[in-house]
Amino acid sequence: MDPNTKRFLKTQMVWIAISLAISFGLSLLLPFPYSLVAIIGVFLAMNYFMRQRQMRRMGMRGGGFFGTGQGSMFGQRGIRYVCIMCGAKHNGGSCPNCGSKLKKASFED
Ligand SMILES: [Zn+2]
Repeated sequence: MDPNTKRFLKTQMVWIAISLAISFGLSLLLPFPYSLVAIIGVFLAMNYFMRQRQMRRMGMRGGGFFGTGQGSMFGQRGIRYVCIMCGAKHNGGSCPNCGSKLKKASFED
């Protein structure tokens, strides 16, 4: 695990602890249905801000609550290639499936 990922995981732990503490506080302060809504709101907000921080640090932009950027949560996988002929994913060079050199870059994992 590289130092960047380790630091990110540590930061994430801190944020999870903070959001748990806030959730616990809210569940004491608010009656049931409201506390649940508030807790979900806190978690989504935390998730959103963590995502934004992470994006900025990695020099990426965009990405919403869900969808893009999911891979970055668990370390960068780098660019992958998709074979144009058969659709197999590989790391570059020629396709291990059909041997074709025709490929396009893919950022999904
Ligand atoms: Zn292929």
